[in-house]
Amino acid sequence: MWRKLFRNFYLESDKFIIRVVEGKGEAIFAHRDLAIGETIGCFEGVPVAHPTKYSLTLDGVIVDPSGSLKFLNHSCTANSFFSGRILKADRDIPSGEEITIDYLATEKEISNGFLCRCGSDYCRGRIGNF
Ligand SMILES: [Zn+2]
Repeated sequence: MWRKLFRNFYLESDKFIIRVVEGKGEAIFAHRDLAIGETIGCFEGVPVAHPTKYSLTLDGVIVDPSGSLKFLNHSCTANSFFSGRILKADRDIPSGEEITIDYLATEKEISNGFLCRCGSDYCRGRIGNF
């Protein structure tokens, strides 16, 4: 599924790439300019009974991802959102910008809480209980 271009850099569609960011792990970046409302990708995976590290709750179903969108990171001012299992741009996203979602928009409970470092003026700090 992934085309390996070189170490730590994967291109899955013309819309986004997966890169390993030092100190952060895998992250998804726009590979070209994306327009507001544009479909970025589909959250592929299987329904599970309990949240996992990478699962998201979409349309009331906990989905454990099998596709690369499991690498979506959180931002308190995310630039994309899910409509069902479809990831869409919430605003124009320039090529090279990290694509993020707001985990609290889909999750009632965060299974692996963390201290957010998104850098937004509206950062909530602690995401989940820990
Ligand atoms: Zn934040």
